[in-house]
Amino acid sequence: MKIGILTIGNELMNGRIADTNASFIAREANQQGWSVEAIMSVGDDFAAIKNRLDYLLAMTDAVICSGGLGPTADDITTEAIAQAFGLPLYTDENVLNFIKEIFTKFNFRWMENNAKQAMFPEGAEVIPNARGTAPGFCLPVKEKFIFVIPGVPAEAKLMITNGVIPLLRKHFPQDELYIIKQTIRTFGLSEAAVDNRVKDIDFNSLGVSIGFYPVFPENHIVLIAQNQNREDAQKNLQKALDDVSSR
Ligand code: ATP
Ligand code: MG
Repeated sequence: MKIGILTIGNELMNGRIADTNASFIAREANQQGWSVEAIMSVGDDFAAIKNRLDYLLAMTDAVICSGGLGPTADDITTEAIAQAFGLPLYTDENVLNFIKEIFTKFNFRWMENNAKQAMFPEGAEVIPNARGTAPGFCLPVKEKFIFVIPGVPAEAKLMITNGVIPLLRKHFPQDELYIIKQTIRTFGLSEAAVDNRVKDIDFNSLGVSIGFYPVFPENHIVLIAQNQNREDAQKNLQKALDDVSSR
């Protein structure tokens, strides 16, 4: 499965914050064996959000967006997406009641703009947020999927793990992959020397990828096998390990 990542917020564009959501989402997607095709950031701007979404959707099966789900006027992600696909917004009464309950519990003063966080583009499926007031959503468009989660990293992480990934696995069961990893630690060999010894091994045909990571004073070789069948993944990884070890 091909994934695009779009992080949204003016704070990203002016460099006030570092984009840790994008790297978290990318790591988790790779962990599932999915291919991250592009990572982009965009400001809180209607036309720009539409433009980047169109670009990313054209090359992927699903785009995961973070940021801009707050109650304030500068948080426009939901509206921008609805507008981009010509969808009206609806209010989810369960979400609205849930948010109102949080306000009552913590004695926050309710303001009408808080109701914005209970609004979703028509056709969206709500992704609950156990840590904050803004739920996310999954929106099927053009036989693809847009996922939207809040910008706050702790909320984003939880919702990726408990919401986005299980939903994507449900929608793309054929892309279920077994991934196994093995690290070989070498000592006293430079990265170039390690590479030189293993460069003629055909890892590709085994469905194994190889990475070199200097962890001073050692050099680590990480082998990752991916396969739809668990036994094949194990067999291929073992074959690659034997090949590397024999060098
Ligand atoms: P809120 O309800 O808090 O406004 P939100 O969904 O609107 O949530 P943003 O306003 O975009 O999210 O971001 C809230 C905060 O989360 C930002 O001030 C920033 O500290 C952090 N944040 C947003 N996007 C990212 C990102 N891509 N990587 C890391 N941190 C981020
Ligand atoms: Mg905000």
